Amino acid sequence: MTDYYHKLKKQIATLLQGVDLSQPPWPEFLQSVNNTYRQDEFELRTLEQSLTLSAEELLMANEEMHAVFQAIPDQLFHINKDNRIVIYKSGNNENHYLCSGRLINQHIKDVVKKDVSSHFLQALDKLRANKKSVSFEFTLIHERRVYYYEVRMMPVKGVQAIALVRDITERKLAEEQIAYLAYHDSLTGLPNTRLFKDRLLQGLEQAQRNDKILAVIFLDLDRFKLINDTMGHDVGDQLLQVVSERLMEAVRRTDSIALNSFNTLNSSIARLGGDEFTIMLEDLADTQAVSRICERLIELVSQPLELQGQEVYTSASIGIAIYPHDGESVDVLLKNADVAMYHAKERGRNNYQFFTESMNKDSEERFQLENSMRKALKNNEIELYYQPQVSISSGQIVGMEALIRWKHPVKGFISPASFIPIAEESGLIVQIGEWVIQEACRQSARWKEQGFKPVRISVNVSAKQLQEEALVDVIQHNLDVCGIDANALGVELTETAIILEPEIALARLEQIKSLGIKLSMDDFGTGYSSLSYLKRYPIDTLKIDQAFIRSVTVDNEDGALVKAIIAMAHALGMDVVAEGVELQEQLEFLGVHGCDTMQGYLFSRPVPAVDLEGLLKK
Ligand code: C2E
Ligand code: CA
Ligand code: CA
Repeated sequence: MTDYYHKLKKQIATLLQGVDLSQPPWPEFLQSVNNTYRQDEFELRTLEQSLTLSAEELLMANEEMHAVFQAIPDQLFHINKDNRIVIYKSGNNENHYLCSGRLINQHIKDVVKKDVSSHFLQALDKLRANKKSVSFEFTLIHERRVYYYEVRMMPVKGVQAIALVRDITERKLAEEQIAYLAYHDSLTGLPNTRLFKDRLLQGLEQAQRNDKILAVIFLDLDRFKLINDTMGHDVGDQLLQVVSERLMEAVRRTDSIALNSFNTLNSSIARLGGDEFTIMLEDLADTQAVSRICERLIELVSQPLELQGQEVYTSASIGIAIYPHDGESVDVLLKNADVAMYHAKERGRNNYQFFTESMNKDSEERFQLENSMRKALKNNEIELYYQPQVSISSGQIVGMEALIRWKHPVKGFISPASFIPIAEESGLIVQIGEWVIQEACRQSARWKEQGFKPVRISVNVSAKQLQEEALVDVIQHNLDVCGIDANALGVELTETAIILEPEIALARLEQIKSLGIKLSMDDFGTGYSSLSYLKRYPIDTLKIDQAFIRSVTVDNEDGALVKAIIAMAHALGMDVVAEGVELQEQLEFLGVHGCDTMQGYLFSRPVPAVDLEGLLKK
């Protein structure tokens, strides 16, 4: 382009030979030529006034000047006072959809489409009224494609005009693409957090003006990580795409739901990232409509689908916050919908929950519990209890499970069932777990010193702990320091611990196993319960969950299941421990069907180490 300006300047200089270019108005004119394409200052008027020639005469009379104007990349129209075209030059590289056929001497309204010509005529009026250049943009649809044009018009002799028309379609599309990418999720094409927040803000303003309620829905897929990890990221991505389509369908099909007097629903769906989606519902008559939509969201998301030849199931947990009841700002509503979603997860997933104030109190309590848990380790509020495991055939104690006990100075005894999950979530479980391993090893060493026959102590290892690379070193270190044999320690883990990170779990279990430590699968029957899956892992013992033992003699189906688990575990070379044995007839059933070991209140509750010594002596 710069070359072109130099050329233009030189050519004009040739044209103006003999004229003193240092005298006004020439310096100004040359300056304006410099600015031609950068600003709208190229006023041919300056040229024309000085030469006493009309612009068209000048253009046409001089071959060189003509060439210069041909080099202008834009379409050029010289329009006279009657709005007729007196000079036309096509552009270099644009789509020629703007006008066609004979142009010279034609009225502008006869050569370009009506809606476009009105832009031109308006601009011409303005230009004549203000004697100043004008610029505007317009769009043109040709064969279903949108073309963008930019027009700059300069006045000539007060009533005529030079119009430079540039096709800016490519630039516009690029701008749109950039704007789109900045506001959308590339995987699903849904709006992203940024756009969602913008729209929510607008929605809130509108709801406030119209005195309407508005719902913010937070939706999280259940077990998505599991699917992603076990079936691959491709399947995970496809699942997210299908889910986003289903969500759109669920809110689009509002016909069967009488939402309000207009029977319309404004909604916006966004993907926040990962497997989290948000939905805004506007123009709501009442919260019942929200319930109905959430029911349909859950129903649609949980329909099975086939991806890469495999059947995939997922479900959704949903939290809802309503404006103005649960918050009046974007951030508060999103946060409260998130809190409500969290409660839906806790309620066993695949359900929806409306936010309530007490939910915030719950999280406040969790927070406090977490804080006091940190102190508990330091302040010796934590202790291990031991529950014996007894051979069903011999009645001898063959092992014991170490179970954590927390005595809070104010709240008293807190059940592990309520604080272990919080410790897992906060990551504190790693520290607690290390303490458990250390304490179990120390206790084992103490009993060894006191001359008790060695009995294996099994510790519970949580999913988070299993993912820690240091776990193996921690175990080895404590065995060494306490001077006890690997046989003295066992590790219990749940199916969830394996399934969350199957490959890491496998590696870790093999490492632990190679130390000589026995591994037990805890709570068997409640999780994914696939024996074939178990085969891949070096498990020595299956612990049948208490839920089955409880009903083993009353429920035929559970009885049959327990029999089958015992038989299959034996076939795979594993021992079987029955958990939660409370009744004599349960023990008898287990004995008849070949179960190896029992653990439960029938023999003993978990007790402090000193109390267990009495049992060991017997
Ligand atoms: P779990 O590993 O399944 O432990 C067995 C639970 O069943 C213990 O509950 C035990 O007291 C209880 N139990 C044993 N026999 C009977 C019976 O006959 N009837 C009934 N109703 N219950 C019986 P506890 O001690 O409350 O522990 C609950 C859970 O907390 C444990 O379930 C385990 O998942 C977790 N937990 C306990 N200690 C630890 C620990 O040191 N680390 C980790 N990660 N988790 C632990
Ligand atoms: Ca256990
Ligand atoms: Ca268990």
